[in-house]
Order: sequence, then C-alpha cells, then structure tokens
Amino acid sequence: MSDESGKGTVKLRWLGHAAFEIESSGGTKILIDPFIKDNPVTPEPLKKLDRYKNADKPSVICVSHSHGDHSADAKEIAKLSGAPVIGMIEWVSALGLSSEQSKGGNIGGEIRVGDVSVHLVPATHSTDGGSPIGFVIEFADGRTLYHTGDTWIMSDMALIEEVHHPDIVLTCAGGGPYTQSPTVAALAMNKFFNPSVIVPMHYATFPVIATEAEVRTAFARDSRAVIMKPGETKTV
Ligand SMILES: [Zn+2]
Repeated sequence: MSDESGKGTVKLRWLGHAAFEIESSGGTKILIDPFIKDNPVTPEPLKKLDRYKNADKPSVICVSHSHGDHSADAKEIAKLSGAPVIGMIEWVSALGLSSEQSKGGNIGGEIRVGDVSVHLVPATHSTDGGSPIGFVIEFADGRTLYHTGDTWIMSDMALIEEVHHPDIVLTCAGGGPYTQSPTVAALAMNKFFNPSVIVPMHYATFPVIATEAEVRTAFARDSRAVIMKPGETKTV
C-alpha cells in the first residue's frame, strides 16, 4: 500500500507501556517490548498470547532491555510464533533460543527483517544484561521510526537525528522514579528531533509513573503529539 506521495503506510498498535505492534507497508510485523500478559493497561483480548501463533504472528520481536516491563513475554511469544528476537547480544544469547531465532546485536548494528531494517541505537538507562538500547526501524519508503526504549534525554539524540532523521518517534515519557518525565520527553523532541508524529509511551501503567493528564499537559503545545489509548491502532 502507498499513498499519492509514494509513501507507504505504517500501522501502529499500542498495547500499553512500551509495547507496540508495528506493521510495515510490505507486511513486516515488528513487536517491540512485549510486556503484555501482566500489563495492567493492555485490553483483555490482546493479553491472549495465543494470537501470536496465527493472526498476529510477528516477523520479529525487538526488546530494548532486560527489565520485565519490556521483556516479560518475549521468550514465550518467540516460542509460540517462531519469530526471532532482536536485542543486546548478551541478553538475547541468555534466552537460550535456537541460532535462527537469536538475533543479538550491538549499538550501531543493523538487522534486516522483511522489508525493514532494524538499527540498534544507544539509550541511557540500566539493565540486567548488556546495555540498554533503543530501535530505529527503517521502512522501504525511506521513513524511519524511533522507539526510544527507556532513555533519559541525552546528547547522543543529536546523532540519532543526524544519522536516521526519525519521522515517527515513540518516546518514553514515564516519569516517576524510573525514567524521564513527560516535560523532559517533550524537551528532547523539540531540542533534537524533527518528526511528523510523536507518540508518548511508558506512562499511566502503574500508580508511581506519570498520568495521561501529565503527558497531555507536557505535549499540549506540540501539534505533532498523538496521545494513544492502549489497544488503539493508528496508520501513519
Ligand atoms: Zn521501563
């Protein structure tokens, strides 16, 4: 599928927290940070992991870091679907999947899946295995989508912009004790990036992190911001 401008369409479903299902115009399905079964905000029908055997079978599963709120269901979905897992090499290797399903990489690396390329980019956070990362998905029409992982605002974002020019950014805006606040997330977008679509994420999942109202306030003057509901799908 493509519109008059020759640009393809990207389907984006937010499952809540940092979990997204992304489908390229060529039908490549990328599941990022699958914390689904025990995610308090994921709609019930979407929590059934069996759907990844058939209708929602991913082409690849991308995991930004080892923490449970990003990786909890990765191994089970990999087993159910047969999909490979992309992440930091130390963490992916420790999952004990077959070599075909282990797509470990490192910062700066690029892994080709279907009609997309997945680039591993830096993030400032912590993990229990290897460095934390973000992902830039490069589509066949040249557009790019940046999933920040759990990073704090960092000067490396200027280099991510220079190298990849993200058109769509899924940004952590979770606040609380763990990640950057919605205000800092909004600052990062304005300071370093020039996307056409910004989707804040990683908020309103648990009581200690930012609420949707706080995220709406922080991004109120940014017309590029799209506030999604868990379970919602957007085409961009
Ligand atoms: Zn997190």
